[in-house]
Amino acid sequence: MKNKWNSSEAKKYISHYKKKKISKELALRIYTTHLLGREKDLVLHGGGNTSLKTSKKNIFKQNINVMHIKGSGWDMGSIDYPGMPAVELDPLLKTSKLTRLNDFQMVNLQRKCLVNSQAPNPSVETLLHAFLPFKYVDHTHASAILGLIDQPNDLEVCKAVFSDQVGIVPYIIPGFDLAKLSYKIFSKDQNVIGLILLKHGIFTFGNSAKESYDRMIKLVTIAEKKINKASNKILPKKLKSKNIKPQIVNDLFPLIRKYLSKKEKNGSDAKWVLDLRTNDKILKYLNNPNLKDFSQRGPVTPDHVIRIKPKPLMLNIKHARVKNLDNIVRREIETFKKNYHKYFLRNRKYVSKPIELDTNPRLILSPGLGLIGIGRSKKEAKIASDLAEVTVDVISKAESIGKYKSIPEKEIFKVEYWPLEQAKLKKLKRLSLTGHVTVISGGCGTIGLAIAREFIREGSEIVLLENNTYNIKNTPQEIKKIAIIIKCDVTNQLDVRKALAEIIRTYGGVDVLVSNAGAAWQGEIGRVPEKVIKDSFDLNFYAHQYLSQESIKIMLKQSTGGILLYNISKQSVNPGINFGPYGLPKASTLFLMRQYALEYGQYGIRANGINADRIRSGILNDKLISSRARSRKVSKKDYMSGNLLKTEVLAEDVAKAFVTLAKAKKTTGNVMTVDGGNISAVLR
Ligand code: ZN
Repeated sequence: MKNKWNSSEAKKYISHYKKKKISKELALRIYTTHLLGREKDLVLHGGGNTSLKTSKKNIFKQNINVMHIKGSGWDMGSIDYPGMPAVELDPLLKTSKLTRLNDFQMVNLQRKCLVNSQAPNPSVETLLHAFLPFKYVDHTHASAILGLIDQPNDLEVCKAVFSDQVGIVPYIIPGFDLAKLSYKIFSKDQNVIGLILLKHGIFTFGNSAKESYDRMIKLVTIAEKKINKASNKILPKKLKSKNIKPQIVNDLFPLIRKYLSKKEKNGSDAKWVLDLRTNDKILKYLNNPNLKDFSQRGPVTPDHVIRIKPKPLMLNIKHARVKNLDNIVRREIETFKKNYHKYFLRNRKYVSKPIELDTNPRLILSPGLGLIGIGRSKKEAKIASDLAEVTVDVISKAESIGKYKSIPEKEIFKVEYWPLEQAKLKKLKRLSLTGHVTVISGGCGTIGLAIAREFIREGSEIVLLENNTYNIKNTPQEIKKIAIIIKCDVTNQLDVRKALAEIIRTYGGVDVLVSNAGAAWQGEIGRVPEKVIKDSFDLNFYAHQYLSQESIKIMLKQSTGGILLYNISKQSVNPGINFGPYGLPKASTLFLMRQYALEYGQYGIRANGINADRIRSGILNDKLISSRARSRKVSKKDYMSGNLLKTEVLAEDVAKAFVTLAKAKKTTGNVMTVDGGNISAVLR
């Protein structure tokens, strides 16, 4: 592993933090925490932790010993000083004299010791850091180390590879007992530069940030060299077997979502999002004839279990026909759920009053296709597949030098149901549309973006379909970070089909369609050229139909209902002069919405629409507002607020109305007006 310490980078950290009145030693602590946290072969997603011991003046002007320690669940790659809270060190050190300290007492003491009472909870490994008498302590779950120590003969391997450079700590669950045991082992030979925690990870320490970091890289490199000497027995040089046609996901993923969402006894019918990972390395791993054996032996380091469960689900569909997929997916997911329940019953005696977690898998291994991460959001699904990629790496290393072995099932259960591990997941938001995939056409225009913002606020995943490259380019970063944008001409059925296939591949399916794209064609109805009307029908009617048809196909496969929402227009019921070419297809779209409500209500699919009027947007731009105002002989302001409530209606109002309709579980076939009140446009 490359040592990435760079003196000029280090200096930059020092001067950057100096401006924030942060000490040089804490700046360097943050620097090497970033170096470690940005190396995915060392730690991922909240794993690992680092600390710094120093002193501070308290309010009584006394010098006290403190330790900065990573907050529980913070990500090392992006951590900043608020994630490295300071705790008073001396009370923590006193606990080394105790023979027992339960989790509640430990967490309570750690919180009491916080210098800033508002700071996040210090890491569950705080005491271990506190006991080691070094200024800097670093802890990672390095893949090369795990490959080496996840073995039946871990102790001998460690001794042979590292000789007396490290202390070796047998596996126990993190907390007070592990801290005491680690210190005891360190005390026996204080010349060691690190501790190997069997089946868990590695600690290094030093009196400078650089020393502790250098030692981490040194020990990881020794492990890498040892592993690289062995030929890889799991991943052959060439990928031999034929892979599954990628189109299979169009049928497979909606079915996976169907059986994940199936109501459980506790009434949960939550929606789930998928994340497919595939590359040569993954496919080689999945092709191995012994996959069923080594992939089921447990997590490569204990804290992965809260993200990916004790075991992944195996889904072999290499020789399956499409018509049999439903049966196969149902059988495999049901079996997984049953087995998870049995695992809970077998092990619940080891934890005080555990409540069973949902029984769904978090990871599917599908030979010929790839790894499928599963989560209540795309972010959680990606975490699962990130950890799965590390698992592929560690297990293939471990199997190449010996035999991969995880901790016993009982210990896996204790970590999975440990309240301090579960606390890391409590921060995950669960909102009314969490797990939903919402597709918005005309997504990067004024109204589309407003709709996106409102649906993001409700926790939904967002896909924006947009054909205007200028709009795509100018979509704000804050939306781009969350949503995916697909360039799509919604008046072209093939384009729509392709876009929906891409959405399935990215998220697993579709739950909400907001068919929003539209444009206003004008012309005196007795003279308007045929092409104008036809063009308007293409976008203002046919595009809605294409999107609905393709979405319905997916929704029916998922069997979890669905929501179709249309941006219609008040023109659909209240024609305006010279707006015939716009109003005609909009009236048809109103009818289209009702037709979908009628024919698909039996499947729990709801269809509703919005009749909005005079919304400032790409369609109703300043130029058009001026011309409409002039033709009515009123000012622009009066034109925009020319309604019963005398107030301008904004894109946000339309967006909020769409969310209201999405959440109205007993409403279908409805048109909601968002026009500030217009008695001639009221529906009868
Ligand atoms: Zn750890």
